Amino acid sequence: MIAGRGFHWAKKIDVKLAYRLIISVVNSNILLINELPLEEYLACVATSEMSSECPDTYIEAQSIVARSWMLANVEQKHVALGFDVCNDDCCQRFQGVNNLTEHSRKAARATRGKVLMYNNKIVDARYSKSCGGVMERFENLWENDPKDYMLNIPDAPGNIIVDLT
Ligand SMILES: [Zn+2]
Repeated sequence: MIAGRGFHWAKKIDVKLAYRLIISVVNSNILLINELPLEEYLACVATSEMSSECPDTYIEAQSIVARSWMLANVEQKHVALGFDVCNDDCCQRFQGVNNLTEHSRKAARATRGKVLMYNNKIVDARYSKSCGGVMERFENLWENDPKDYMLNIPDAPGNIIVDLT
């Protein structure tokens, strides 16, 4: 399959899938839907989005954010095709069980049921691979629907360096 569809880093990768696979034809294209338990999906997302060599706390944080985004289910980009999320950067990177490790499974288990909440609702926890040291306001990155929980906040307060050369 192609990873990074539409981005400059797009590349073909081999993917191993587990659990249940539903194969259909949609508009002369083959559509594969992979059904798997949420926690196993999150363990795969964690090591598809980041290295399995990251410290436990990083992978646990990634698992909580990915679970929050998934369960908030705000975007619903693929409802018309009959699945929840795609496998690529459009939603969350999911490269099957290729990079699945006991480390990522442990992080998913350790954070099971944990989501980010705001005003009794699961947070629409959209994220990117790099923030450049500053969290940006939701409406400046995603869509014009400001969120009180996604504001312009530096990662390390007081030490923002902007190199303009
Ligand atoms: Zn998608």
